[in-house]
Amino acid sequence: MKNIKELKIEYYENFDLTNYCTWKSGCKTDYIFYPKNINELKKILSTKKNYYILGNGSNTLFISLKDTIIISTKKLNNIDINGKFVIADSGATLSMVMNKCLDNNLIGFEFSTGIPGTIGGGLITNAGANGGTISDKLISIYMLKNDKEVEIPKEDIRFSYRTSSIKKNDVITRAKFLLTPGDPNVSRKKIKEYLKHRNKTQPVRWPSAGSVFKNPLPEHAGFIIEKLGIKGEKVGDAEVSDIHANYIINKKNAKPFEINKLVKKVRKRVLEKTGINLEYEVRIVDYDQD
Ligand SMILES: Cc1cc2nc3c(=O)[nH]c(=O)nc-3n(C[C@H](O)[C@H](O)[C@H](O)COP(=O)(O)OP(=O)(O)OC[C@H]3O[C@@H](n4cnc5c(N)ncnc54)[C@H](O)[C@@H]3O)c2cc1C
Repeated sequence: MKNIKELKIEYYENFDLTNYCTWKSGCKTDYIFYPKNINELKKILSTKKNYYILGNGSNTLFISLKDTIIISTKKLNNIDINGKFVIADSGATLSMVMNKCLDNNLIGFEFSTGIPGTIGGGLITNAGANGGTISDKLISIYMLKNDKEVEIPKEDIRFSYRTSSIKKNDVITRAKFLLTPGDPNVSRKKIKEYLKHRNKTQPVRWPSAGSVFKNPLPEHAGFIIEKLGIKGEKVGDAEVSDIHANYIINKKNAKPFEINKLVKKVRKRVLEKTGINLEYEVRIVDYDQD
């Protein structure tokens, strides 16, 4: 790891990721890097180390990273507004983008209310809620390809329910959106309603990663799990939420392997009882197993 230490880019060694995942549970990483611009990001990638790009960690569970380094996008969070066009860095959070748009009388990002992710993480899964998704207002994504930043139009990327055709090792640097001029006060009222609904229907008090499984549409994973009576099931401090059965919550000190054990248990039970093979919405990172 000699080269990478000499890059003069902010990094930490033997770093505990517990507080870098919204599940508040995670393993350690040998190295976490904080590039603050695209050049620094390129330099890290040029070392050819295995890497995992980390946004806000709201869709990720780290169990083991082996020799994989973490590249955090926390410090890549600029948002530029030019007329109706918005260019947001990959590490800008969805709420930062929404609020900045509203401050500039631009509407169309309110769908993201309550999704605690970043632009990069959101694009990977085509994050969505409240009747909208991140790809709705998207114009293009900027990515690093062969050491160059390239702009890829939305039409060249496939987006559907909680998925996109962006490849595993592609690195998103920025994204461009086209929003609509509108009254931010009307939007702020909507946002309050969205939050009220979320607070009523989701276990917002406890650390989680949101929905663990994708909905096998038209069915809902949460209803299927609830019908099988799995709510409240536990492994260590990990528990299937009794408010929303597709959420696994950390009641205190759930270890990553305990959360994973419960995730697998729920999935196995659903398969045995219904024949439905639930697909993961969360990323379980366990490079010792892969
Ligand atoms: C309480 C709660 C509620 C939630 N509600 C919703 C919801 O309503 N709708 C919804 O869709 N999701 C929801 N989620 C899940 C999650 O917030 C979203 O999936 C979010 O978009 C993930 O973003 P992130 O930055 O946290 O991603 P991370 O967990 O950091 O990363 C997710 C994936 O994206 C990749 N990635 C991140 N940044 C980049 C980049 N710059 N370039 C390339 N790859 C990158 C990572 O490598 C990883 O594979 C919820 C989560 C929580 C905790």
